[in-house]
Amino acid sequence: MGNTDIIERIKAAKEKLGKDLIILAHYYQHHDIINFADFVGDSLQLAQIASRQKTARYIVFCAVSFMAETARILCSPEQEVFHPEPHARCPLAEMANISDVEKAWAVIQGAGKEVVPVVYVNSNADLKAFCGRNKGLACTSSNAKKIMEHILSENKVPFFFPDENLGRNTAQTMGIHESEMFLWDPYAGDADRNTESMKDAQIYLWRGFCIVHTIFLPSDVERVRKEYDNIKVVVHPECIPGVVNMADFAGSTSFIKNVVEQSDTGSKWAIGTEINFVNSIKAQNPDKLVIPLKTSGCREMAKVTPEKLLHVLENLVEGKTPYPVLVDESFVNHARIALKRMLEIA
Ligand code: SF4
Repeated sequence: MGNTDIIERIKAAKEKLGKDLIILAHYYQHHDIINFADFVGDSLQLAQIASRQKTARYIVFCAVSFMAETARILCSPEQEVFHPEPHARCPLAEMANISDVEKAWAVIQGAGKEVVPVVYVNSNADLKAFCGRNKGLACTSSNAKKIMEHILSENKVPFFFPDENLGRNTAQTMGIHESEMFLWDPYAGDADRNTESMKDAQIYLWRGFCIVHTIFLPSDVERVRKEYDNIKVVVHPECIPGVVNMADFAGSTSFIKNVVEQSDTGSKWAIGTEINFVNSIKAQNPDKLVIPLKTSGCREMAKVTPEKLLHVLENLVEGKTPYPVLVDESFVNHARIALKRMLEIA
């Protein structure tokens, strides 16, 4: 099947489905997918859109599976959510499982602080449900700081999982010292944990990371600064603190988009995040120099292709329901609570 054929068939299927369909796509999708999306956004924006979406019967979610699950949790029961590639799973989300988190929770609570579990949206539904059940909530990279500040303002301490770097970088911006950050390593033996230092913690972190963002190194920042005069470096907070601390700016996907868009004509930017997104910022800002800090693609996001999108859409036209996103009923209510608490604060 040629590209033109696929494009025409996607357009035809979209037209037939009309208002019954919306297609949501994450910024990290290839432009071949983004071109067909009704809404493009980061995790927070897509969660907000899914929660407000009342009319479309079918939501087709082009991203990794936890995002499609989030839409399933937030939209109404009459709506159906489909994922063109159910095997597109975020490796970061797989770095925390419920039994390890429950074990950590039991130990951390023993430190004598009032702890609030905070799960990054890049996680599976059972962890979101865990937070909903335990007076906790979800967060994204756009609102992590606001949510952590909210918790600390109530004299409570966040237990944040599974992305260590986002947790550490956020804590730093709030003035929390390294010595007040306790790292829970799910692979460590009980004897290796210094539970004494838990008592002074202002935040509990989890050893998990995004392979796409941890590829950026301080030497990459040095290199682009040597190669380009007056270049600004902006990175995602899933990058390691050594890179975030050297960058001119760090923030969520939407933040990165805005900071480049609002900059002066002729300005130069090196961006430390997923390459599809860097390429779309470059295309949208032809009056600026935009380069990747280094080329780093998310292989899981790339599993969603126009062919797979077409397969879902044509099946929907025929009244079939390919790859519906299903979330275990026992998780839905509590996971929704965790997400709604986040949307109320953020
Ligand atoms: Fe997961 Fe990182 Fe890919 Fe995002 S970019 S989906 S966090 S692996």
